[in-house]
Amino acid sequence: MNFEKKELSVVWLKRDLRLSDHEALNHALETKSPCLLLYVFEEILLNDFHYSPRHFDFIKQSIVDLNKQLAVLNTQVLCVKGSVIEVFETLLKRYSITLYSHQETGIGLTFSRDKAVKRWANAKGVVWHEFLQQGVFRRLPNRKKWIHLWSAHMNQPLFNFSPAEGQLLSLQLISDLEVQFEGMDLNTTQSKWFQPGGERNALRYLNSFYGGRYLNYQKHISKPDLARKSCSRLSPYIAWGNISMRQVLQRTEEEKEQGKTGRALTSFGSRLRWQAHFIQKFEMECRMEHESINKGYHALVKEKRQDYLLAWETGQTGIPMVDAAMRCLVATGYLNFRMRALVVSFVIHQLWQPWQAISCFLARQFLDFEPGIHFPQIQMQAGETGINTLRIYNPVKNGMEHDKEGKFVLQWLPELHKLPTRFLHTPWEITPMESTLYDFHLGKDYPAPIVDIEKTREKASRTLWNLQKNSLVKKESKRILNRHTLPNRN
Ligand SMILES: Cc1cc2nc3c(=O)[nH]c(=O)nc-3n(C[C@H](O)[C@H](O)[C@H](O)COP(=O)(O)OP(=O)(O)OC[C@H]3O[C@@H](n4cnc5c(N)ncnc54)[C@H](O)[C@@H]3O)c2cc1C
Repeated sequence: MNFEKKELSVVWLKRDLRLSDHEALNHALETKSPCLLLYVFEEILLNDFHYSPRHFDFIKQSIVDLNKQLAVLNTQVLCVKGSVIEVFETLLKRYSITLYSHQETGIGLTFSRDKAVKRWANAKGVVWHEFLQQGVFRRLPNRKKWIHLWSAHMNQPLFNFSPAEGQLLSLQLISDLEVQFEGMDLNTTQSKWFQPGGERNALRYLNSFYGGRYLNYQKHISKPDLARKSCSRLSPYIAWGNISMRQVLQRTEEEKEQGKTGRALTSFGSRLRWQAHFIQKFEMECRMEHESINKGYHALVKEKRQDYLLAWETGQTGIPMVDAAMRCLVATGYLNFRMRALVVSFVIHQLWQPWQAISCFLARQFLDFEPGIHFPQIQMQAGETGINTLRIYNPVKNGMEHDKEGKFVLQWLPELHKLPTRFLHTPWEITPMESTLYDFHLGKDYPAPIVDIEKTREKASRTLWNLQKNSLVKKESKRILNRHTLPNRN
């Protein structure tokens, strides 16, 4: 009997959990073949040290949101657990499949997986179409043409989601397929602290930002508590692809045309452009996941101290601004830019720890973990690029400037509540008499600082400034500038 397999377009969802402006999905639907939306919860990622349950909850919530939108079309996302190649193999037994997905600039593990999928697809004669989604381009030798490529990508019209009737695989066919795989429970426990995943939530955040929250963007961007409201908070939605950067940028242009102007929008617009700029850097130099981009810094050897790392991770260093920020991050998955830079600066410079000792822990905490921003930013804050000004944040000065009344510190370090405001950022300055008066005992109620922040700052600064004179650091800095900076950068 001549049995011919039916065609099936498989849209392999990764960090692109949306229906609108989804180029891969759009192209799959253009073929008019039956189409399946697939998400694979991959064992390799479920067990990887960069990922944590908060990420998978966000992904699950995003898929639940897609399923709610897809219900009217009598379809849903096929969600399975396993290895992608095994899942494709199983689908291939029943259908003649064509793969559609977006390119991913991820960690080494996903890069190797993609290469394995490519080899598998070639061996099986399966066509795999990959599309851009971030304005990040593969195999660029330098940035000479990048900004033009990026602008052209961002100015393209958005892709509409408009499937032909019955084109998406029906619920019945999907449940027939489901039994062949290990399923995944999509239930999550919602916490009031975590931003909920989903395309419609992304739009809600975008609308409320332009509905008024943006007005204080510039004023509050560095304030640990107020930034939570006045910044867009789009980062997890962009990182997991609940919304495309093109949608955010085009909306920003529309808002400007309708009269929204001012420094807030200019400043926000620049940050939107930084997103792809950083990811492009990582795309072109992905060894940054493991080693400093500037090879001159590979000679820098630091002793890993588990006691320091544990104190930092659990918010027990005795420096209130650092501890409050760390506890807040662990509890909520979010910190504004300045607090991220401050906690990284503290552990790397003042506790003199290698950045490689903190990158996985931080990745697990940030709900918006985006490898292409994460690794370059950590190295920039570590002062190991050779091209950025060395900044060692003073946690006391930052506390006094950005949390003057100590509201943020008190929220996350309730054990300081007995202290008068003037000691909230420097509890070690309390005198023995005041200690008795306020019934607050340093070392018992709250730790004494684990290091002398002035001495350690001075040592880190001296070492790093000396290293900047090293010939390999200088040679590498030139190479990095040639390869990664835009031609018109001053
Ligand atoms: C050590 C460190 C690690 C970081 N890791 C991440 C990460 O994994 N994922 C991530 O999205 N951001 C990361 N950032 C950048 C920045 O802190 C966050 O993008 C921002 O705080 C997210 O809040 P928001 O969406 O309200 O930002 P907004 O200020 O409203 O900005 C809007 C968008 O612009 C982009 N953006 C903003 N600031 C930056 C920046 N400095 N570099 C690149 N893109 C930027 C993001 O996509 C952000 O969602 C990191 C910063 C540091 C210092």
